[in-house]
Amino acid sequence: MAYDIDVFVSVLGQREKEVGTPAMQKTLAMADRLAADALAPAVRHRLVEQTAVLTYFQKATTIRLIPYAPLALVGFDLTALVELPRLLALAHEVGHHVYRQFPVNDASEPKAAPAEALSAAPKWPEWLNAWEEEVFADVYGVLIAGPAAVLAMQAMVMANLPARLTVDDGDHPAPILRPALMSAVLHEMARRRSDPLRTQLERTADVLDKRWNSYLASINAPAMFRPKHARARCNLQKPARSSPSGLRRS
Ligand SMILES: [Zn+2]
Repeated sequence: MAYDIDVFVSVLGQREKEVGTPAMQKTLAMADRLAADALAPAVRHRLVEQTAVLTYFQKATTIRLIPYAPLALVGFDLTALVELPRLLALAHEVGHHVYRQFPVNDASEPKAAPAEALSAAPKWPEWLNAWEEEVFADVYGVLIAGPAAVLAMQAMVMANLPARLTVDDGDHPAPILRPALMSAVLHEMARRRSDPLRTQLERTADVLDKRWNSYLASINAPAMFRPKHARARCNLQKPARSSPSGLRRS
């Protein structure tokens, strides 16, 4: 808690006119607005309670969740001053808040799990379950920021060394999977619409897929990866229709 207060004081300090440059103040104000906008739909749909979100500059983009107060502190790195698309990561960070708070704030009646669900074998391997929160945050990012979130993720992954593409850190999906996962959400968002925006979203998702696939081809991306703590490697190729798990083991 003492550390939370330290961070909070530093968050407020960065808003002092004498501390930051006008560009920093402007970026912080924009980041605060974007983070609040990213949270608003979750509050509107009563997934989480109204929470104040304050942003601040720090080394890495992360969210500091404050479980005992309706407050979330989102840090982002200074490069956003010259690269505004980096602020798109704020939607992902707010997704972490929604993921953690949803079970706490959910006021609906708990539904009894069907007996067969309780006795069924775990559906996913452990390494896949370990990615759950980060997958949620990636999906939330696309629901909030749409194609821009996919584009930003592609840029982030492409900026890394190709050798890192298939590294499973035990927390985030392997980088090679994240743009594809987010693009799948975009396609699903398009599929659920019937207005003219549907075609526009579908086309945009197709363009993004093409861009990503060209990149993968250009670096001769690997077709397999080894999940953390797993003995078997996984095939990254599109699964055959008959494969129920989506990822085939080798
Ligand atoms: Zn994350």
